[in-house]
Amino acid sequence: MRIELSDILSVKDRNIDIQADIEMQRFTSKMGDYQIIDKKPLNINLHNTGKRRFTVKTNIDLELLIPCDRCLKEVKCKMNIEVNKDIDMNESQNDEADDDREMFFIDGDELDVEKLVYNEVLVNLPMKILCSENCKGICNRCGANLNSQTCDCDTTELDPRMSKIRDIFNNFKEV
Ligand SMILES: [Zn+2]
Ligand SMILES: [Zn+2]
Repeated sequence: MRIELSDILSVKDRNIDIQADIEMQRFTSKMGDYQIIDKKPLNINLHNTGKRRFTVKTNIDLELLIPCDRCLKEVKCKMNIEVNKDIDMNESQNDEADDDREMFFIDGDELDVEKLVYNEVLVNLPMKILCSENCKGICNRCGANLNSQTCDCDTTELDPRMSKIRDIFNNFKEV
């Protein structure tokens, strides 16, 4: 959904509440392609603070399926993002140096709700997703999911940290 801003910007102190659905079904970025399994309509509050400036307030409430970092099992990840932004239309119109400009959610005199949501989800994605704190991950030799099965691979050989420690021990012995 795109919100026409000229109406808001034309009257100082104008305050508008708008409801908008989040249209995207998936969240796709460099990090991966995640299904959105739940989302609430947005209540967006726009407030004209004068001189082509306004505030945007809303709360993004959605749930993504993100693969576990260790075993790739998809994990439900709830996101609740408080949005409170000061927009200066004078700035956004001519600030070409802005790196985020491509994803910037103001397009001409319109606010692109999908871009706003995308941006906020992107910067708020959790750094680490685990299906559980003690997920055992996948055997990097045979590919077995070690949470549900065991394998006979000797994985100690594959952990570079372990071999470093062994090297240190060996060096000590030689001295
Ligand atoms: Zn896992
Ligand atoms: Zn294995």
